[in-house]
Amino acid sequence: MPTVPTVTLNNGVTIPQLGFGVFQVPDDETTTAVAAALEAGYRSIDTAAVYGNEAGVGRALAESGLTREELFVTTKLWNADQGYDATLAAFDASLAKLGLDHIDLYLIHWPTPARDLYADTWRALEKLRADGRIRAAGVSNFQPAHLRHLRQESSLVPAVNQVELHPGLQQSELRAVHAEYGIATEAWSPLAQGALLDDQLLVSLAERYGKSPAQVVLRWHLQLGNVVIPKSVTPARIRQNIDVFDFALSTADMDAIAGLDRDMRTGPDPDTLN
Ligand code: NDP
Repeated sequence: MPTVPTVTLNNGVTIPQLGFGVFQVPDDETTTAVAAALEAGYRSIDTAAVYGNEAGVGRALAESGLTREELFVTTKLWNADQGYDATLAAFDASLAKLGLDHIDLYLIHWPTPARDLYADTWRALEKLRADGRIRAAGVSNFQPAHLRHLRQESSLVPAVNQVELHPGLQQSELRAVHAEYGIATEAWSPLAQGALLDDQLLVSLAERYGKSPAQVVLRWHLQLGNVVIPKSVTPARIRQNIDVFDFALSTADMDAIAGLDRDMRTGPDPDTLN
């Protein structure tokens, strides 16, 4: 079983550098998919209240026979629940669905800037952190301006910013802000939802390394230092996506993949989603 390296967050908590995402997986299928991931060696699971599958994740965790300390669970606060009191209530609901007594990483899912509630919401995450109900507090889809605003409002720096990031959207400006503030970069849609896997460069690199294009992309993320959470419901792909620790891309090949950057968003624009 592969040993997944960890990344140390700015509060000393460690997160597996590669985890398993369950966006768009129906609740009843989530238990099977997460069980397959745990069997393959994943220990970090990324869900969200809005995915409607926290209960499915919780069932797989409970049935796994793994101890709570072996697992790293991330969930996210949905936009409609932003605001101090609403966040605390939504957190309790997520915890109950997951069947857990604490969350490893709790994220504000989107900044939704037009609502102007994310600073209040962040204060609720500060309380959850102070009460020991979450081990780390983070954000998702925050742009540099949103991170700067939070910095002015709070001394608690997000441990993580989970953002769309893949070879077609490399987020260099945001990654520089993360480096400056000490925020770990977590890549969602790390495989661009499959959209880049027939790219000629990635296919040719895959042939040369004796790996698949998806494995080449995941390796690229890991070598950049990103935390990645690829999703699959296909058992062979679930196993393939964690089998990325026995090869390394050369600097020249990392540079070649850097050339695929083209501002390609597969998801919404964080500045306008509300
Ligand atoms: P990914 O980039 O992980 O791609 C998933 C797609 O790629 C699926 O269609 C899957 O197919 C396919 N796939 C997976 N592995 C392989 C492989 N080895 N070869 C070929 N195809 C493959 O997309 P997601 O959008 O799911 O992102 C990953 C996770 O990030 C989510 O599940 C979620 O946890 C998180 N996320 C967070 C967001 C946020 O706003 N914070 C937004 C979006 C995602 P199949 O399943 O059929 O095998």
